[in-house]
Amino acid sequence: MMAGLRFIREFRDPKLAQSLARQIAAEVDPNRTYRFMEFCGGHTHAIARYGIPALLPPNLRMIHGPGCPVCVLPPGRVAQAIAIAEQPNVTLCAYGDVLRVPARKGESLLAAKAQGADVRMVGSALEAVALAEANPQREVVFFAIGFETTTPPTAAAILTAQAKGLRNFSVLCCHVLTPSAIMSILESSEARRWGSAQLDGFVGPAHVSVVIGSRPYEFFAEEYQKPVVIAGFEPLDVLHALLLLVRQVNEGRAAVENQYTRAVTRDGNRKAQALVAQVFELRKTFAWRGLGVLPYSALRIRAGFSEFDAEARFAIPAPEISDHPACECGAILRGHKSPRDCKLFAKACTPETPLGSCMVSSEGACAAYYHYGRFQERSAAVEAEEV
Ligand code: SF4
Repeated sequence: MMAGLRFIREFRDPKLAQSLARQIAAEVDPNRTYRFMEFCGGHTHAIARYGIPALLPPNLRMIHGPGCPVCVLPPGRVAQAIAIAEQPNVTLCAYGDVLRVPARKGESLLAAKAQGADVRMVGSALEAVALAEANPQREVVFFAIGFETTTPPTAAAILTAQAKGLRNFSVLCCHVLTPSAIMSILESSEARRWGSAQLDGFVGPAHVSVVIGSRPYEFFAEEYQKPVVIAGFEPLDVLHALLLLVRQVNEGRAAVENQYTRAVTRDGNRKAQALVAQVFELRKTFAWRGLGVLPYSALRIRAGFSEFDAEARFAIPAPEISDHPACECGAILRGHKSPRDCKLFAKACTPETPLGSCMVSSEGACAAYYHYGRFQERSAAVEAEEV
């Protein structure tokens, strides 16, 4: 325990952080602007929590990406989960933050629970399997969301349910894929239509990369000439990654570099990848919140496991639902706007009364700004005008 804490403290050392910040300031070219997207909501949270923007030179700007799993969950999928939860004899299980994601006005899984639906918060997919085993008279449905980090545990849960011969367990699969989201930011028709940020490089995800490795990002570096530096979630990790990104930009290079070598390899976790491939296959299309309908950007359960597929078992389609008209989550998830550009931020929309998904999860950009940075950073629109 103590050794673990010491290990973490080393990555939060203020003196080292300031030394890295000085190095970044010394190496940035004052005649240009650097715009780096942190794809992952975990980085957005860390950047806000440790006040990293205040350590950066004014011509280096961080842009939030769509890597918060709760934020990109489309309202139609939440409505689908609510409709399943409202069926007789159903227990709907989900990770905590998902319960508060708004679908339509006033609709959420938590509101459905208040009105009598059996909705449970679980910490893992296996908890839902245990609930199914303990309650054979009820249909237990696990609402599975998230990027590549949470997909292997869902695959393991389905295999466990199969091994136990459970007939009352199924999964509403909404797992999505990181490389597709990055691609959509760089080139999708939706991004062209609604606008997306101009980017000079990416801080690559930490936990996702533990599973998929650094190899999948090589395509972006080569094809789009965008540097990617995979980074851990501690403040020194992020600052070090930014220094490496600045150097790549200055040298006119676009490569994948791995700052998080203590956890990420080029090929990732092959065992987890095999588990996922056994149970899931690519969906042709999936609607994301803020990014529109993206081809081959999500997973569905393979036909061989269809008895565990809640979409097949309940046959309730996901309706098309728009966000609150004033909510800027879509533009924020594409890196086009900042939370401060939303008129509802910290007024009608707060973590207690979220009107959009970016205010729900602690990894969402709006929640991170609300908790740590709402008085510190100027709006992206103002900064864009100044550039
Ligand atoms: S502050 Fe609320 S309403 Fe505005 S973009 Fe963020 S989540 Fe949406």
